[in-house]
Amino acid sequence: MSERALNHLPEELRESALEVARTREDRIRRIQRGESFPQLSLTDRKAWLEDFHPDYRADGKRALKVGVNKDEGVPVELANLLEAWPRASVRDLVENGRIPEADFETDVLIIGAGGAGVTAAIEAAKSGLDVLITTKLRAGDSNTIMAEGGIQGADQECDSPLQHYLDVLGGGHFSNDPDLAEALCHDGPDALSWLEELGMLFDKYPTGRMKVRHGGGTSRKRLHSSGDMTGLEMMRVLWDQCRNLRNVNVMEFCPIVELLTDDDGRVVGAVMERLNHGNEMKVVKAKSVILATGGLGRLHLQSFPTSNHYGATADGLVLTYRAGLPFRDLQHNQYHPSGIAFPEQKAGLLITEKFRGLGAQLVNRFGDEFVYSLEPRDVTTAAIIRECSEFSHGATTPSGNVGVWLDIPMIDDLHGKGTIEKEFPGRYSEFYRHGIDLTKVPVLVYPTLHYQNGGVRIRVDGATGLPGLYAAGEVSGGVHGKNRLMGNALLELIVFGLRAGRAAAEFASQTGSGGQAGLSHIESYLDDLKAADVEETRTAPMLLPRYGKALAI
Ligand SMILES: Cc1cc2nc3c(=O)[nH]c(=O)nc-3n(C[C@H](O)[C@H](O)[C@H](O)COP(=O)(O)OP(=O)(O)OC[C@H]3O[C@@H](n4cnc5c(N)ncnc54)[C@H](O)[C@@H]3O)c2cc1C
Repeated sequence: MSERALNHLPEELRESALEVARTREDRIRRIQRGESFPQLSLTDRKAWLEDFHPDYRADGKRALKVGVNKDEGVPVELANLLEAWPRASVRDLVENGRIPEADFETDVLIIGAGGAGVTAAIEAAKSGLDVLITTKLRAGDSNTIMAEGGIQGADQECDSPLQHYLDVLGGGHFSNDPDLAEALCHDGPDALSWLEELGMLFDKYPTGRMKVRHGGGTSRKRLHSSGDMTGLEMMRVLWDQCRNLRNVNVMEFCPIVELLTDDDGRVVGAVMERLNHGNEMKVVKAKSVILATGGLGRLHLQSFPTSNHYGATADGLVLTYRAGLPFRDLQHNQYHPSGIAFPEQKAGLLITEKFRGLGAQLVNRFGDEFVYSLEPRDVTTAAIIRECSEFSHGATTPSGNVGVWLDIPMIDDLHGKGTIEKEFPGRYSEFYRHGIDLTKVPVLVYPTLHYQNGGVRIRVDGATGLPGLYAAGEVSGGVHGKNRLMGNALLELIVFGLRAGRAAAEFASQTGSGGQAGLSHIESYLDDLKAADVEETRTAPMLLPRYGKALAI
């Protein structure tokens, strides 16, 4: 490797990157002989997780004082958000004691315009009912659009939904809801066909056969991609389809800040704030509601950087918890092993696992492997933290951040020149613009907060415990248990987006409008907060992260 290729690296990192290049040939020869770094035993996996994974840090959690999951430990940042007062617009409504006439009425209201929300809208619209999507930022601003590596689905001869199911359960440490996992894997092949019919361009061989790769923790190659911009390609076809439907309307910059319920506890609408109209409050009435608000990365648990989009602030969890819906597995979050650690202006952004699927290894500052690169994500994350903290074998950036190397150039050595550029056009050109050639240099990485494994409890049709309310996508919990495997989130949002869309439309057409919209659930939640002596200093949902401001949560 020419030293010029390392010009972007400061002195501290350059020497270590050269070490990685020096050990590369040897590591490649071992792969070519069919040798790999030994996988951990189940006992070692457990021990490494308990000692090093952020989920297991006692000071990262606290018990909730109120609500249906009272006494359960969740990340401190989330607990603070769940135990917060409603926003001013909602408190005004509570104090007035009545909800004004609806400003907007629809049959099915969908909250969130990522993959799950738009998929649900397409399906619900098939019924001919009116569908309204409200979203916090611009249409498309979402984690879905940022997804890189791919979507799983057992559509190959050597694979089956059953094999997929076993992998999902193993990856989730057997804590998944088995019915939800079964639905995910069963619908996988159909979900891929559905996306193809919408026009999604998957990577294929000249014969037309799908290219599939391994993801961490999977026993078969079943990851289907569109380069390293799979989410962007998916959202392209979903939006194209959705925009063609006359009975779907979309409101941008209109976050939902509270659910509305009737006297029977049925969800009958929501309170909206219009961000581009001075946070003006509006009331939306709906016969059924689908929650598709995504995850919580922007809470920056334990001060980790995040790969998530700007609006990932756990709003859906706040709304449903106040309405009395239980959640599950929220103490388990996914810290993706390979967030960028240098250049620091990109800290936390993702380097997809597909790089490791194609052979890139994780190595320490001496260029030595320290973990099998395709262990399940949580185990790989624990291994990186162990290597950097316990053994101090990470490389340190000028500002004191630490990381290990992802040896990307070895992909071209293994699969032929041009593979990196072809398989990862997004990341390749992005780095190239900054003068970094991924075919020549390794990238320094460290775990980044990536995915909310748990969430709102749902049934296989997306129904929640509240009549009229459905949920799909990252906001829901149970499909992945304590740990999601790569590619299963994109599959989940299609499978459960479709199921929720169908069920919500059916509910809306069968049950009519429901009773008088109210906020009695908020009134009783406020009573609980007061009884638990929770100070009145915080409001939620936060809607946008509060960088550079005194944190109110
Ligand atoms: C960088 C990155 C790469 C990834 N790569 C992969 C991959 O290769 N394979 C894979 O399977 N998974 C991947 N994932 C995970 C996957 O992309 C997400 O889990 C999934 O897309 C979530 O979809 P969603 O529709 O549930 O949420 P999102 O796509 O995040 O959409 C949520 C929507 O809700 C809106 N919203 C939030 N709050 C409110 C509110 N109060 N009112 C109204 N709207 C609101 C948001 O603005 C957004 O439009 C990746 C994630 C990231 C961040």
